[in-house]
Amino acid sequence: MTTGYVYHELFGWHDTGTNAGVFPADHRLGIQPFQHFENAETKRRIHELVVVSGLIDQLHRIPPRKATDAELLLVHTEEHLARLQAQSDQPKGGDSGDGFSPFGPGGIEIGRLAAGSVIAATEAVVDGTVSNAYALVRPPGHHARPSTGMGFCMFSNLAIAARAVRRTHGVERIAVVDWDVHHGNGTQETFYDDPDTLTISIHQDRVFPPDSGSVAERGDGGGHGYAVNVPLPPGTCNGGYLSTFERVVGPAIDRFQPDLILVASGYDANAADPLARQGVTSSAYRAMTERLLDLADRHCDGRLAMSHEGGYNPVYVPFCGLAVIEALAGVAVPLTDPYEPIFGGMGQTELQPHQTALLDQVVPLLDDIHSGVRA
Ligand SMILES: [Zn+2]
Repeated sequence: MTTGYVYHELFGWHDTGTNAGVFPADHRLGIQPFQHFENAETKRRIHELVVVSGLIDQLHRIPPRKATDAELLLVHTEEHLARLQAQSDQPKGGDSGDGFSPFGPGGIEIGRLAAGSVIAATEAVVDGTVSNAYALVRPPGHHARPSTGMGFCMFSNLAIAARAVRRTHGVERIAVVDWDVHHGNGTQETFYDDPDTLTISIHQDRVFPPDSGSVAERGDGGGHGYAVNVPLPPGTCNGGYLSTFERVVGPAIDRFQPDLILVASGYDANAADPLARQGVTSSAYRAMTERLLDLADRHCDGRLAMSHEGGYNPVYVPFCGLAVIEALAGVAVPLTDPYEPIFGGMGQTELQPHQTALLDQVVPLLDDIHSGVRA
């Protein structure tokens, strides 16, 4: 088994400026210049832990590359591309669309590199160069809509990769599992009427985008039933996440029978994240990855590719990322997560009744998912 891995130092150079968290610094409002929540550190520190732990020696490096216009236009509008290019050409850069997603001069080129690197990782899985792959990219992608960026995202990296391999390699049925703590609204929008793309988003109820990702959002037209949303209550920890995999993700994928599984891998459900209120630890990220590997083995010769999304605690996210990439590679480096005993011991980490109640709402909806063999 070979695990592909793509990272480029330029991902750390994507410049989100001196925003204080999400807001532009403004002394008139009392907002002192600081760092954007979406800064380089979590990503850079995952990569450095992958190197320092020795895990890098077990991985197959996939060369990063920039996405072409034609690839970006598989999902995005020409207007979105033209606007980003114009802002990228400005001396101080611009914003991907919502005012919370700044980038520096020339920033579109790093966005192209992120999207293209997810395509490269996915292609390597589909053409058999590697068994599975992890694309550690920045800026993230799952909030970006066809017509605009948002939520720190410039291009919808994973959706672009899905459409790219569908075109170049004839991959028909693609299941997308999004475990970023925020709703994967952009990916969902792109495939909302498509019964050949199953999107499953596991997120904290109504965090971002606000009022997005309810159980009632299920897809349009022929795609009805192929958008699955699991808006977990705040405070959900490992027990609730593993139960979601047991009761929703596994059965949904078993019904759908994909040719490829893609994962929008954000770590902001971790127990110490500033942008959510969940309590997941590295052991659960490892277990969820192992469950997906089992599903991929069962349905699509192990074809599984992950695209990095959010996760904003620079101290803890690297251990979660390391656990996922170790699981993908089927190896264990001689390092244990030193924070697991702390974050795993804060109480109510097991499945709670109100989390079961939410899953009880979602499970019956899976009956509308069917495999590719249709009458
Ligand atoms: Zn997120």
